[in-house]
Amino acid sequence: LKELFDVEIAGHMPQAMAIKNDGERALIAQIHMDRYMLPSEYPLIVDTAEGSRITDIDGNSYIDLSSGFGPHILGYRPKPVVDAVEEAVRKGAVNAIGNRAELELASIIAEAFGGDRNVVFTNSGTESVLTASRIARAFTGKDVVGKFEGHYHGWSDQGMVSSWFRYSGDPKEPTPVSNSAGAQRGVVENTLVFQYGADYSLERIRRHAATLAAVVIEPMPSMNLDYDPEFLRKLRQVCDECGVVLIFDEVVSGFRVTYGGVQTLAGVEPDLTCLGKIVGGGLPGGAVVGSGRVMQSARTTNDPFEDFATRAFCGGTTSGNSVSTAAGAAVLTYLRDNPAVYSELDAKTDYLREALQKIADEEEVGAQVRGKHTVFSIGFEYSKPALARDQAAGSHVKAMLALAYYMRLNGVYLPELHTIMLGDAHSYEDLDLVAAAFRKSIREMKQ
Ligand code: PLP
Repeated sequence: LKELFDVEIAGHMPQAMAIKNDGERALIAQIHMDRYMLPSEYPLIVDTAEGSRITDIDGNSYIDLSSGFGPHILGYRPKPVVDAVEEAVRKGAVNAIGNRAELELASIIAEAFGGDRNVVFTNSGTESVLTASRIARAFTGKDVVGKFEGHYHGWSDQGMVSSWFRYSGDPKEPTPVSNSAGAQRGVVENTLVFQYGADYSLERIRRHAATLAAVVIEPMPSMNLDYDPEFLRKLRQVCDECGVVLIFDEVVSGFRVTYGGVQTLAGVEPDLTCLGKIVGGGLPGGAVVGSGRVMQSARTTNDPFEDFATRAFCGGTTSGNSVSTAAGAAVLTYLRDNPAVYSELDAKTDYLREALQKIADEEEVGAQVRGKHTVFSIGFEYSKPALARDQAAGSHVKAMLALAYYMRLNGVYLPELHTIMLGDAHSYEDLDLVAAAFRKSIREMKQ
């Protein structure tokens, strides 16, 4: 097994993968060099996507297991979205001015989370977390933001602190480290890093209450793909005691695990929720939704009479544009009116997860298929570690890359080093094909 995990990916690529390398592909490959985890000579450049399938510019068709990293919960090109987008464009593709689609999406989101809610729109999940953190700092008058080790909150300087595979210091009091060159040192150092599920981290929040404006958490972290309602409840309590704004990053889990988010399942209400992916309906889009009490610290206009000292400016020329919000509203309306989508998605995901785990066990490759609801991953590990940092060390990145590579050869797009997400468009026939491709890929990897 050790040998298997140490495969050299590049040397392992059969000639079949050296598909047509025409001028267009070479040029695109160069432009997109860093967008892809697999060696850049073999980038996947999609031409069209429909339902559960993507087709590349060479005409190869693949079953897609990425859902575009999450947004395409109804599959690619669902009719309600195509219709809504076409209509929004015909009606002028409005941005920077309040518009009907924006109002509609805001009320759908507010209603989904219940109670007294306000919504601010953004263009992405990253922007949602930036916006929520700023609102929290304005609301509390404090400066420091806390986050959890291994949790990714977008590509901003703070969002990438101690996320993915890069950790440092004592787990109880980690040294914040950036996952990106060029991140501002001041921002990185102004971040406190905690451990999900650890009571010592709750104590640490208490110790830093005087300076801590907010704690942001992925309630169901992509690293572990599980959630701990008891810990979330305790975190809620500590934040209340300490005057710290609790932010749930539900960019992935929002409207994916259920209609609502992990908070709906766990029964724990944050002050602010960050959304992205699904609420953009497959187009760029995101939102922050929260209680009026905290959200009154947000201002979304340039009104010079507003209070600059205590209200957080939330901007964006295209935030809330009528095309993205119409797409988002179409998806959420469909999900709201067809709740069976979630039970069917859960059933399909369980079916595939179990099939893959059975194959992995039969083929004796030490792979574990982990996940909850429609989000899961295939990891190659020697043991199940407790902390996010150990998980990264125990996961065999090269084997995951090799698997993604062979799956692609066998007609399946498995996102490298990213969670797998199914959509409503996946059929059981698709899932059987994925399982067959998985067995074949594992065998090819072993050769
Ligand atoms: N938060 C979480 C939990 C995410 O997984 C992501 C992206 O994958 C983001 C935030 C950032 O969202 P976006 O890529 O839309 O900026």
